[in-house]
Amino acid sequence: PEPRHLLVTGAAGFIGSHLVRRLLAAGHRVTGLDDLSTGSAENLAELPGGARFRLHEGDAATLLRSAALEGTIDGVFHLAASVGVARVVDAPSASAENNLDQSRAVLRFARERGAALLLASSSEVYGKCPALPCREAADLCFGPPTASRWSYGLAKALDEHLALDAARSGGGRVIIARLFNAIGPGQLGRYGMVVPRFVTAAAAGGELEVYGDGSQARCFCDVRDTAAALERLLLGPAPAHEIFNVGGDEPVTIAALAERVQRRARALGLPGGTIVHRPYEEVYGAGFEEPRRRVPDLGRVRAAGWAPRIGLDQ
Ligand code: NAD
Repeated sequence: PEPRHLLVTGAAGFIGSHLVRRLLAAGHRVTGLDDLSTGSAENLAELPGGARFRLHEGDAATLLRSAALEGTIDGVFHLAASVGVARVVDAPSASAENNLDQSRAVLRFARERGAALLLASSSEVYGKCPALPCREAADLCFGPPTASRWSYGLAKALDEHLALDAARSGGGRVIIARLFNAIGPGQLGRYGMVVPRFVTAAAAGGELEVYGDGSQARCFCDVRDTAAALERLLLGPAPAHEIFNVGGDEPVTIAALAERVQRRARALGLPGGTIVHRPYEEVYGAGFEEPRRRVPDLGRVRAAGWAPRIGLDQ
């Protein structure tokens, strides 16, 4: 494919940094925007083709409105957001406002510059009681506005509305990727992400804390597969103005995940730690709700030529 100039917001983040690596390896020129609030420049160390990469440090919305980004930009991958259930529960308004502010600036930028746009949405838009498997055309269901946990999903859902409306009213190519749990190298455990928490505890001989009874199930996808999907969806032949689920589709209960991490750790000669249970209320406060199971229907993204390749044990 012809080399292009691509913009990645949230480039120093977990998924963003893997995407940057991938785009550079394919020969593209990449400009990254990141305020390093959760991302870090270390994630972008030793990039292949690093001479074709430039990072602008600062608030993405501000940078997009400034004159800093000159020249032709063919496509924008919008990943900058305040992420993580623990973080959202701590600061529901600030995280939702950041996410909306960023996406509005990105939409205006993409329209003005005639750039294709991929918006990183989330499985959180399926809300509290999804019909399984989650299909892109399904109704979304959130709790009452007192349940702060859903502010992130609501902001992402509103992003989708704004992006699809911009596309309908004459904008350029818009793709919405609803990401399900990504895992892999570089993910931080700070904001409650379960796999890094378990791996760190198993390696150090600490406690693998399972919230609730552990029968809740999630599907995990290696971040390198996630990055490949984003590249494919925006730069490949996928139909525009569509929503695509992106993730793994094999549900694993959190209790089984803890045992699996422990077994793998011991097989590697590491201590393995102890599995303990902790009530949700104790972690996230009273009235906290989690969807029991979340499984994507991957029909659309498979039809666009992508499937997950890297398994959970790997
Ligand atoms: P991350 O926190 O590692 O990445 C987000 C990046 O955005 C960080 O580098 C952060 O510093 C940056 N950022 C935040 N606000 C910014 C701002 N105002 N200006 C500039 N940069 C800003 O998280 P991630 O897991 O890599 O998530 C990337 C995207 O994917 C997010 O939009 C997230 O909502 C979405 N997503 C992730 C997952 C997952 O499993 N990791 C699941 C669903 C959706």
